[in-house]
Amino acid sequence: MTKFSFSQINTWGKCNYQWHLKYVEGLMSPPTPAMSYGKLGHKMIENILRGEDIHHEIVIGEGEFDTGEIDEVQQLIEDATASVRMFEASLPLSDWETVELDGVPLIEFPVEVPLDDGDSYIGYIDWVARHKPSGQVWLWDFKFRKSFQADWVEEIDLQKPVYMKHVIDLGIDPIGTICGQIKSTAPKKPAMTKKGTLSKAKVTTTWEIYRDAVIENGLDIADYEDMKDKLKDIEFIRLSRAFRTDEELQRTWDTVFIRSVKQIKTQSSSFEPPPRSIGFMNCNFCQFREICIEDLKGRDTEDLKNQFQRREDYAA
Ligand code: SF4
Repeated sequence: MTKFSFSQINTWGKCNYQWHLKYVEGLMSPPTPAMSYGKLGHKMIENILRGEDIHHEIVIGEGEFDTGEIDEVQQLIEDATASVRMFEASLPLSDWETVELDGVPLIEFPVEVPLDDGDSYIGYIDWVARHKPSGQVWLWDFKFRKSFQADWVEEIDLQKPVYMKHVIDLGIDPIGTICGQIKSTAPKKPAMTKKGTLSKAKVTTTWEIYRDAVIENGLDIADYEDMKDKLKDIEFIRLSRAFRTDEELQRTWDTVFIRSVKQIKTQSSSFEPPPRSIGFMNCNFCQFREICIEDLKGRDTEDLKNQFQRREDYAA
């Protein structure tokens, strides 16, 4: 019996050999600051949606937040708080209400979809909510990103259609999915120049933060009016939506998801490692690139592999 996560199916789709290193050899990278930002941001959004304080259950140095130096984590929390507050204001949250299933709000909702042979697909749905003005129900996923993906990427997402199909099977009828993309860097206060003015170059912030800095520093707002226009196109939040039909959901499930599961199961019973998807787009972001290259050259890779952590369920 195997519990398949989206991460496993996604890795398989990107490169079968990367999947082998991750799920057969059990190699795991230590958490990165970007991962911590996403984890903190998700928890903060969950807290807000549940009506809790934004920092509820976020304790530095404990549990899943036991990573990095205290000062680093403190800064991450401050930045993630600013990002999430912007997201909350931009929706605005008052336009949305959480959908419930048998009295359980669909926030960070655990999913376990049965598959053949006792296997299952597991994951968490970030949020299912009704847009009050239109009455439409949407299935949400939150992504904290340094740079945003184009809106069309939502159309070829695999995770949310699978979740949406599951939610429909449970009797809820979303009209589509939304990827709430949130910048994983907080808007910054502009720096002061040596001349005692505020910098107008390379400022990644909002007009509101810039304007407050002008006032705080006792400067004349008229000298900075041009920044209002300059900053208006800097995006911190982007909502990418995809309307989805039942037919699309079923086809995604049958022709993409289930086929991948079958391929993984066939590969799992083989002693030969699977083929590699060599190419710039895959390999450029691959955490196992060095191992892969050394292995291709026929060299010993054990030392390189030992630099990674091993998954808990990995059997050496
Ligand atoms: S470096 Fe490229 S080919 Fe090798 S495992 Fe990574 S993605 Fe696959």
